[in-house]
Amino acid sequence: MNGLMMDFPLTITSVMDYAKKVYPNVEIVSVTSDNPRHRYTYKDAFKRVNQLSNALAALGLQQGDRVATLAWNDYRHFELYYSVSCSGYVCHTINPRLFSEQIEFIVNHAEDQYLFTDPMFVPVIEGLIEKLPTLKGVIVLTSEEHMPSSDKLDLICYENFIAGHSEEFNYPQLEENNASSLCYTSGTTGNPKGVLYSHRSTVLHGLGSGAPNAFNISNREVVMPIVPMFHVNAWSLPYTCALSGSKIVFPGNKMADGPTLTSLINDEGVTFSAGVPTVWLALYNYLKAEGIAVPTLERCIVGGSACPLSLINAFRDDLDVNLQTAWGLTETSPLGSIFTLKPELDNASEEELDKLKVKQGLPIFGVDSKIVDFEGNELPWDGTSFGQLKVRGPWVAKAYYNMEKTDAHEEDGWFDTGDIVTYDKHGYMQITDRSKDLIKSGGEWISSIELENLAVDHPEIAEAAAIGYEHEKWGERPMIFAVRKEGSTVSAEELIASYQGKIAKWCIPDIVEFVDELPHTATGKLDKKVLRQKLSV
Ligand code: ADP
Repeated sequence: MNGLMMDFPLTITSVMDYAKKVYPNVEIVSVTSDNPRHRYTYKDAFKRVNQLSNALAALGLQQGDRVATLAWNDYRHFELYYSVSCSGYVCHTINPRLFSEQIEFIVNHAEDQYLFTDPMFVPVIEGLIEKLPTLKGVIVLTSEEHMPSSDKLDLICYENFIAGHSEEFNYPQLEENNASSLCYTSGTTGNPKGVLYSHRSTVLHGLGSGAPNAFNISNREVVMPIVPMFHVNAWSLPYTCALSGSKIVFPGNKMADGPTLTSLINDEGVTFSAGVPTVWLALYNYLKAEGIAVPTLERCIVGGSACPLSLINAFRDDLDVNLQTAWGLTETSPLGSIFTLKPELDNASEEELDKLKVKQGLPIFGVDSKIVDFEGNELPWDGTSFGQLKVRGPWVAKAYYNMEKTDAHEEDGWFDTGDIVTYDKHGYMQITDRSKDLIKSGGEWISSIELENLAVDHPEIAEAAAIGYEHEKWGERPMIFAVRKEGSTVSAEELIASYQGKIAKWCIPDIVEFVDELPHTATGKLDKKVLRQKLSV
């Protein structure tokens, strides 16, 4: 027997309608390339969203067509998020930090028809335009007086594009499983793969990630998304804020700019923010050096890669801010787990808490998780058994966009995250490695992350990457690429000796190669593919 409740589709349009009705006067503040502090309300925003929807409709786009963005976090990008998806098109957010060959690959793969770009990326598009046959137009996110000129492109000014269009728009009745947005993984293992979110997955993830055991976002928060809107939808914050009625503060391209971030936090009363570890390290160093406090800031989410304990504790001790670790992937929308303290651990010692805080947290409802060994047997949550982390749920990808082998999940209906993890008895997950980075020496697994963490524990090492090199006897042996801190002359022997007594002898790297810098992907992660290529030549 079915229930007798309404069949009301979960669409981004319903999020927009809600914010418009219930929170019209809540502010959205932005730093943009043409205005250091733009300010308007949800009501104003959605009027302009309607104007944009009319302008897009006039282009003759069909439902499902892809419209791309190459832009920082600001109000015009927010308008695109809502207008494109609610009109029934797909909002394809492109990471401008990708290599230009990757941008070319994904624009062509997605068959983007129009591209909305910040002025500073116009040269990137000029360089590629001859190789982008599906593009019919490029719209620059600025006002007429700030328009860049171009010999190669027929640029359209965003403000002119929407001007004169009606502030009313009749949105189509979408089905909740219709596609809403498209985001490509950063391609650490080959060409980028497209993850095609639906309206339903976006709304459910927006609700799930805003819940008390996750980001805990209410109408009292002032939220500053530092994580880019081109990186997994800024971890859903443009949606979560609208459905929670919270004020948004968009930092534009000033994501690494200590003075701008600090004045945004203190002038606007920011209570909550989210970003990757390097953002927090830079902000912390700036605040410490200048002796500035951030009294309104309560919580910051740190994710994307592991965060050192020293930074989490420095935020607590010096800034009175709770820096909370969260984990996820493009394929999980992204939120899968986050650190919150269970009441049963209220009496845990400082030492136990330190161990917990650096883990990747508790799974949130909506992301069912299990660990399996390499034969596929499920492993216990005992804090020591480690294996592949598999997940499933309503905001986990089941297939990649337009690929020959389209399934993202295995035959058993679980998605293999590529992370090797443990779960402890309380349910806290800890990543020990990426499966492709594990080093197998003499049939035993060595965690590359553990070797890297121990290397940077050395006071003279700035950054390190561990990979396995081919070895006749052992199959693979670990080696370290390391960057010395400025002025250091530490030797390979000294670094190797520092591992003694900290890990089993056979896990200690045999070789250290010092380099000036390590390669990183567009999302700031170590690019070990490049290091492996370096070894094979
Ligand atoms: P890509 O897989 O293309 O690098 P993602 O941004 O989706 O792009 O990266 C997801 C991966 O990032 C996860 O599988 C995990 O290995 C890593 N990651 C995410 N959050 C954390 C975290 N809090 N701690 C450690 N690693 C993390």
